[in-house]
Amino acid sequence: MAAELIDGKEIAQQVRAEVARDVAAWTEAGHRAPGLATVLVGDDPASAVYVGGKQKASAEVGIAGFDHRLEADAGQAQVEALLRELGDDPRVSGILLQLPPPPHLDAGALTEMIDPAKDVDGLTPISAGLLAKGRPGLRPCTPAGVMEMLRRHEVPLEGAEAVVVGRSDLVGKPVAALLLAENATVTMCHSRTRDLGEVCRRADVLIAAVGRAGLVRGDWVKEGAVVIDVGINRTEQGLTGDVEFEAAAERARLITPVPGGVGPMTIAMLLRNTLIAAQAQAGVLA
Ligand code: NDP
Repeated sequence: MAAELIDGKEIAQQVRAEVARDVAAWTEAGHRAPGLATVLVGDDPASAVYVGGKQKASAEVGIAGFDHRLEADAGQAQVEALLRELGDDPRVSGILLQLPPPPHLDAGALTEMIDPAKDVDGLTPISAGLLAKGRPGLRPCTPAGVMEMLRRHEVPLEGAEAVVVGRSDLVGKPVAALLLAENATVTMCHSRTRDLGEVCRRADVLIAAVGRAGLVRGDWVKEGAVVIDVGINRTEQGLTGDVEFEAAAERARLITPVPGGVGPMTIAMLLRNTLIAAQAQAGVLA
């Protein structure tokens, strides 16, 4: 393997330690501890594990936790009322609605109920609009994690060819906007892209966020490229990414493994967003 691994676990640990330090300084300066409210509707076991992980990580860095769980048959109005209440609660700096909610609920409408100042997932239309306009705001956690990895490895982005495969609101679009903000030349690909391999071969920085194991072939990776694999796929071989890892690592300069790459970054960036939200609400710019 020629490529150096980007160790997401280690970078996430560094970010978490920095947030813990900054939260301690914040509270020592006389401010209330930042608070993260999570809202889980229903009893999906995977979602319960994710929410539990977020609450545990918050407690470890000194963020106060507000863990709200609603029955699977909770109505739209009930969830909306809770989100409104959390928006008004000064102890709550960040609100995270665990997605997806049960199918009888309108996830889009619920997301829009979240106070944009507390939108630590960065998924409200206001947050997306601020990002699209290049204005300060809360950024979605996984894309912010991708950028943090690139920054820590000092990957030059200005003028670089960046190719993003996937155009979801959660990952692809915000990653592309963040790369553009760093003056990369960004190409977005999706399921209708013609000759995906040819487009990927141009990339100095290649981001895969699709959810199809091995979709990005090793020989699509340019020699010396930086490859970030956001994909998480459960296969018979265990968890794998969207990139054919072994072959891609022969050609790349830097590459993220799956697991242990982008995955751990998401919670770390959620913690950082919660602190940033608390500081912004107190009128102190981060
Ligand atoms: P979505 O399913 O919302 O989006 C997938 C995107 O991939 C779509 O834009 C789709 O195109 C595109 N796509 C599908 N098939 C192809 C193809 N054959 N060629 C090119 N593009 C294709 O997924 P998410 O963005 O939510 O997630 C992507 C992956 O990242 C998943 O594996 C998910 O598990 C993982 N993930 C990991 C996180 C982490 O913490 N590490 C966090 C969030 C997600 P189109 O729009 O045309 O349909």
